[in-house]
Amino acid sequence: MAKTMTTTAGNPIGDNQNSLSAGSRGPLLMQDYQLLEKLAHQNRERIPERVVHAKGSGAYGTLTITEDISKYTKAQVLQKGEKTPMLARFSTVAGEKGAADAERDVRGFALKFYTKEGNWDLVGNNTPVFFVKDPMKFPDFIHTQKRDPRTNLRNSTAMWDFWSLSPESLHQVTILMSDRGIPKSLRHMNGYGSHTYSLINEAGERFWVKFHFKTMQGIETLTNKEAEAIVGKDRESNQKDLYESIENSNFPKWSFEIQIMTDEQAKSTSFNPFDLTKVWPHKEFPMIKVGEMELNRNPQHYFAEIEQSAFSPSNVVPGISWSPDKMLQARVFSYADAHRYRIGTHYEALPVNRPLVEVNTYHADGPMRLDQPVGTDAYYEPNSFNGPIEDKQYVEPPFPVNGDGYRYDHHEDTQDHYSQVKALFHLMSDSQKEQLFNNIAEAMDGVPQDIQKRQIALFDTVDSDYAAGVKKALGI
Ligand code: NDP
Repeated sequence: MAKTMTTTAGNPIGDNQNSLSAGSRGPLLMQDYQLLEKLAHQNRERIPERVVHAKGSGAYGTLTITEDISKYTKAQVLQKGEKTPMLARFSTVAGEKGAADAERDVRGFALKFYTKEGNWDLVGNNTPVFFVKDPMKFPDFIHTQKRDPRTNLRNSTAMWDFWSLSPESLHQVTILMSDRGIPKSLRHMNGYGSHTYSLINEAGERFWVKFHFKTMQGIETLTNKEAEAIVGKDRESNQKDLYESIENSNFPKWSFEIQIMTDEQAKSTSFNPFDLTKVWPHKEFPMIKVGEMELNRNPQHYFAEIEQSAFSPSNVVPGISWSPDKMLQARVFSYADAHRYRIGTHYEALPVNRPLVEVNTYHADGPMRLDQPVGTDAYYEPNSFNGPIEDKQYVEPPFPVNGDGYRYDHHEDTQDHYSQVKALFHLMSDSQKEQLFNNIAEAMDGVPQDIQKRQIALFDTVDSDYAAGVKKALGI
């Protein structure tokens, strides 16, 4: 038998079809609280969409560790045999919440692992690098991807103007404009932690690490034409594919692999290993297999579980930590802060974000205190009333830093924005190169020629064939 419907206060409802009126033709009575509550709730059914990565799809799964990497990390979640429940959220970057899925854009690849030592979030992309390497340029870059404030249109002139003035973006621009710029589905793309992080072992030794999730479905992509045909019929192609695959028990899997660098090695690499526009070449830093990630359960309520899910690189567990990467340092602040604004101060207490372990903080009040704090005399720290205390075993070993505090020109760190892009260009088949040239030419449509030429000069520094191909596609 169906349950009796109630108000939010639990009062039983006798009629949910007809409003309360004075006479059958109205007007309505102010005391129809149930009607007022329904309308008031309707007005509050949205929260601010994410400023970036607004359009997303998510699912739950399991991370299984199959190899022994205990010489690098003491993190329990990364010990051989460990199985950890997790949540993944995939997204496009620029489009609003109602944007089409099959668009040329970087894909967010955000993971939350509900470990025995609290939540570990790895908030990456389907690309190993990013457009900028100094967070001072992050908001400006995002503005170029969003709508022009005057026309309210997407503005390709702004994009290419910014990119052509920011040569460090070349690597990511090349990946974005390549065949991989439109994944066929969320199941057919790799995920990368992108930033350099660190692993810390039982002996307190720190290793620098890159995290990789390689699709076991194989890389599959869409051309602009294929994507246009899909978007014309279905704006939710990725959401549909992920949801239906999981409903049909066709669970997508990724091979979880890492690259490791010692601090000694980090001092002598030809590139800055903490620069988000660079990868670590596989030949120098080979991939090490760690385990597998499988997605196997759809959320039951999109808003509660995916829209309200909140991922932040600030969430790390003992044995996993950050690196000097300036972009990572900024994201440790700005991602958690975005959720405080978007969802509320106590967003971590929501079921989807809550860790499996007990949470013991002295954070106080604020809107929507969702948990049930136990009344205690120990509401400050230090105290004499047996409140939670720190445990020195979790203090991290010293974090190596050096140098004077200064606004270092991020272009002077390395002038080489080109050689890794060249390596990628040379990995591409002729048909992939052809797609790259044509995708760039289409994306540059309507952009003033001086900006096109400035960008082509950057392609020329990578490889004269790259510039020649783009020029030909543009008809210059
Ligand atoms: P490798 O040849 O050892 O590695 C190449 C990597 O590039 C593989 O992971 C491969 O992924 C990926 N790749 C292959 N073709 C393309 C493509 N058309 N678009 C994007 N990625 C592709 O060489 P290096 O490690 O020296 O890297 C060479 C270049 O490859 C780098 O400069 C970078 O641009 C790119 N790359 C490097 C990665 C790294 O972590 N070293 C990661 C991803 C890209 P897959 O196995 O899926 O084909």
